[in-house]
Amino acid sequence: MNYRHIYHAGNFADCLKHIVLTRILTYLQKKDKPCFCLDSHAGIGAYDLSSEEAQKTGEWQQGIARLMGPDAAPLPANIAQMCEPYLAIIRKLNPEGPITTYPGSPLLMAEMARQQDRAFFVEKHPDDAETLKQTIRRDRRFHIRQEDGWNAIKGDLPPQERRGMVLVDPPFEEKGEFNRMIWYFTQGYKRWANGIYCLWYPIKARRDVDEAAGMLKAEGIDNILRAELVINKLDTAKRLNGTGMFIINPPFMLHDELSALLPFLAERLGETARRSHLEWIAPPR
Ligand code: SAM
Repeated sequence: MNYRHIYHAGNFADCLKHIVLTRILTYLQKKDKPCFCLDSHAGIGAYDLSSEEAQKTGEWQQGIARLMGPDAAPLPANIAQMCEPYLAIIRKLNPEGPITTYPGSPLLMAEMARQQDRAFFVEKHPDDAETLKQTIRRDRRFHIRQEDGWNAIKGDLPPQERRGMVLVDPPFEEKGEFNRMIWYFTQGYKRWANGIYCLWYPIKARRDVDEAAGMLKAEGIDNILRAELVINKLDTAKRLNGTGMFIINPPFMLHDELSALLPFLAERLGETARRSHLEWIAPPR
């Protein structure tokens, strides 16, 4: 458990993950019915971009700063619309202007939650779970647990609301993380086939991701979208070259939105490569 997200908070991968997250929540909240969120690998909830750790890598400078920093070109209208309320929450957390506080997934979920909604946040690292409890105010709608998030994907599903999403965002610091993610996802899916699932992954080498996509396809589950952003040439597997998400049961509008958003993000956030990829691994039935 060496992983610390503070070194990566607000980078290009967070931007894509968190925009997708807020788009899904926006869709879920179109109806008054209560929604449920499970964040199985929650992190600490808010990240201080002025901290020594964040400054050391400066990854957010190539991420969120390029979308809304002082030197960022204005966003095209359709992209700006998609990026709300993600950007609105960041503006709210940084009322002075410069971005020093970057929200993690549980804070985005908590900020967007309506009175009728609930969310479970699971974080295994004891210090991080404690920090998360301090970040997310005490509220009957939010349950924060320090435990293994993989088990929560089995144990917490299905939720009573029968409407909502699961974010699975592991650190990928151990071998076999793709296999583990797909195995636990299928356990959760067996219990709750109508949930929206977002499985985040890093792209270091194309082969690993293609294999994972093949494994998911072999599960015979419908309605799986693969959305990817590649910002560096895939000439070494030693760095984070790109990022992607497998989205199971995506809201109907998400495919069209991503077909505009991904090429835009690739251009805006790209370094030695500017590519995106959007494909149905398994189409909706
Ligand atoms: N989801 C967060 C966000 O978007 O703001 C970032 C999460 S970070 C990529 C991964 C987190 O998973 C780390 O905080 C790490 O401590 C935690 N973690 C690692 N193994 C875990 C496990 N088995 N169960 C729950 N959390 C775990």
